[in-house]
Amino acid sequence: MFNIDLDLVRKYDKPGPRYTSYPTAPQFHEGFTAENYIDEIIRTNNADNPPDLSLYFHIPFCDTLCYFCGCNMIVSRNRDRIKEYVNAVKNEIDLLRTYLKPDRKVAQLHWGGGTPTHLMPDEIHDLVSYINQNFEFVDKPENGCEIDPRELNLRSPKSITRRWF
Ligand code: SF4
Repeated sequence: MFNIDLDLVRKYDKPGPRYTSYPTAPQFHEGFTAENYIDEIIRTNNADNPPDLSLYFHIPFCDTLCYFCGCNMIVSRNRDRIKEYVNAVKNEIDLLRTYLKPDRKVAQLHWGGGTPTHLMPDEIHDLVSYINQNFEFVDKPENGCEIDPRELNLRSPKSITRRWF
């Protein structure tokens, strides 16, 4: 026998937002423009104590489609297409760097998708190196990466992430 805290069950027995990404999907709307985004970066740059950064990298590729999937992803094994995307992410880092104050450090780093481990080891290494060249990190940052366990034996992401984190 075990005890169930019914108050706790009642507390969370209500609909919540889809939390597969942060900010959650309803927070993305046309009322918050690219200009607002840049203004927000500048505003936080100029704060008395500029907050540390949280970076999210969306890798939208998967090997196969899960029937329950509600993520922003595409099934692709086209390595040229994936490489093109990785290069676009690196361009976005360049763009972001022009706005961010250089001394702001990264406290949280998350790779989601899609399936980040659908990238090949050299593609992961390429992007990680680029991130490390462009950002400084706090001591002991929080790092996360979504993986597809079906690929663990194929590409050994464990060894990749060990090098990475
Ligand atoms: S691994 Fe995740 S993102 Fe990819 S199809 Fe399955 S649920 Fe969707």
